[in-house]
Amino acid sequence: MAMYQAKKQGKNTWRFYDERCHQTATEELQLDAQLRVALTRGEFEVHYQPLVRLGDERVLGFEALLRWLSPVLGPVPPLKFIPVAEEHGLIHDLGAWVLQEALGQVKRWRDGAFPELHVSVNVSAHQFAREDFVGAIREALRAHALPGNALMLELTESALITDLHGSVAKLRELHGLGVRFALDDFGTGYSSLSYLQQLPVQVLKIDRSFVRDMDSTGVPLLQALITMAHALDLTVIAEGVETPGQLDVLRGLHCDLGQGYLFGHPQPADVAGAALEQESSG
Ligand code: C2E
Ligand code: CA
Ligand code: CA
Ligand code: CA
Repeated sequence: MAMYQAKKQGKNTWRFYDERCHQTATEELQLDAQLRVALTRGEFEVHYQPLVRLGDERVLGFEALLRWLSPVLGPVPPLKFIPVAEEHGLIHDLGAWVLQEALGQVKRWRDGAFPELHVSVNVSAHQFAREDFVGAIREALRAHALPGNALMLELTESALITDLHGSVAKLRELHGLGVRFALDDFGTGYSSLSYLQQLPVQVLKIDRSFVRDMDSTGVPLLQALITMAHALDLTVIAEGVETPGQLDVLRGLHCDLGQGYLFGHPQPADVAGAALEQESSG
């Protein structure tokens, strides 16, 4: 994409492009080294954001979101360090760590007062592409003595369609264990209906841009996405629900679940868990 932009701006931008590219590579290498150290030093944390059923506002699960609090750089947003971890291969160790954390946490919640809760874990395309992906998930569930339905895996379309046949086989095998799959950021990528029909996913997460823009031109689009998902028998989660007005509209459109600051920010497990206890007692 950078290449395309450089072309569009004309010939004179090539030198600029080269320099920028070089600088970025150096920065990336530095960040990658810092990430590796951070993982061994325990600087990462998983935060949990509630996934709420819109009908009764019950929390059905949590999305696990990775956080890095670097003593040197401060808090670094995932959108800054995850692409670097993907580029340099650390995403495999990082992803395995998140999975272990998230499964351990959902196990504690389920063994406590919330036996039906699930955790949703983001999987990068690089992780999913590995041949041992299915085995690693199966083994992690077994190690935590958890059934497959305690876990939902969030993937983007682009992660699935590079090898459609291989993806379908992996999804089927894990779904056989009860693991559910969500298509993340739906509407921002290829969003081809033919892919959607072929992929054994159970959940669509509608990207938060559709929720954000619903006031202007967005409602018909949102409605079309939800209707289409339901026609394919998929559960719909709307991302980025921030206001009661948005919640009203989504309810009116029969959206199944919502996620967003209105219901709760991503928070450390103890804080997220305390909110859960309060909700169930109040
Ligand atoms: P995502 O999977 O789409 O996650 C949802 C993002 O939306 C999170 O950003 C969350 O904090 C944010 N969000 C939630 N509710 C609201 C809202 O009401 N308004 C707004 N404006 N934002 C909201 P976050 O935590 O910064 O993560 C960004 C992305 O980084 C994630 O997007 C995901 O693609 C990636 N990511 C995070 N954790 C992991 C991980 O463990 N593994 C992998 N592979 N990717 C991860
Ligand atoms: Ca996600
Ligand atoms: Ca998303
Ligand atoms: Ca995303």
